[in-house]
Amino acid sequence: MADRAASQAAHDWRPERFMVIAAHPDDADFGPAATAAHWIDAGSVGWLVCCTSGDAGGEDPDADPLALAALREAEQRAAAAIVGYAGITFLHQPDGALANDLALRELLVREIRTFRPDAVLATDPETLFYGDGGINHADHRAAGMAAVDAVYPAARNPMAFPWLARAGLAAHNVRRLYLFWSNHPTVRVDVSATVDRKIDALRAHPSQIHHPDQLGDRIRSWAADEGEPIGAAAGEALRLIVIEEDADEGPDSAADARSVAADAGSGATDAGSGAS
Ligand SMILES: [Zn+2]
Repeated sequence: MADRAASQAAHDWRPERFMVIAAHPDDADFGPAATAAHWIDAGSVGWLVCCTSGDAGGEDPDADPLALAALREAEQRAAAAIVGYAGITFLHQPDGALANDLALRELLVREIRTFRPDAVLATDPETLFYGDGGINHADHRAAGMAAVDAVYPAARNPMAFPWLARAGLAAHNVRRLYLFWSNHPTVRVDVSATVDRKIDALRAHPSQIHHPDQLGDRIRSWAADEGEPIGAAAGEALRLIVIEEDADEGPDSAADARSVAADAGSGATDAGSGAS
């Protein structure tokens, strides 16, 4: 019931700090770029983490994968500047062979504890098929699962990778997960004001855009579909996992959310207070 209500009104909670974790350069831009731009315009600070540099994202078996990786990192940096991210980290994992292993988890925990986001956005790891219309890339599933596992419990547990805390990267509680490319979206963000920025960001990936003349219409059409249930010209649909409630939005009742916030003694966006 709460999900249904949420999906019929524009989602207006906003993290002060958010991190997008993606498998490949361009995923964040095909994904929640307009939401990211919308939040950044309202004062949020965003950081992008690309697990791979897209070194297998081409058609030529004789191409130099390192040259392609360098090109795609440059494209992603240009796109991120258009969206307005404060910065990007490339983790340089192998494209097409991304594994949700402990090494990747440690790298992501490092990123989360360094940037200390309120919210993490990642690909929905439960999406194996897109409805009945396609197969989700294994790297997208691995990156999504790795993000989930890094957020909880590793980032908030000082005894997970204890050398990180000993080196000054204190445990950090991420309070929300927003999963994109989900078959089960629960919230929709009105991105009417920023969908054009998403299209501009995607144009910054010419190595991946084969029909640039059709790109704008395609993205606007998707955004129109996702915005229609909330009466917005453009929307992005996300699956929200609330890990810690706050005064702005509880999953069930506003009264419950208020009491949680009162107990915590914190404002709506006090991400740094951590352990409770
Ligand atoms: Zn991808």
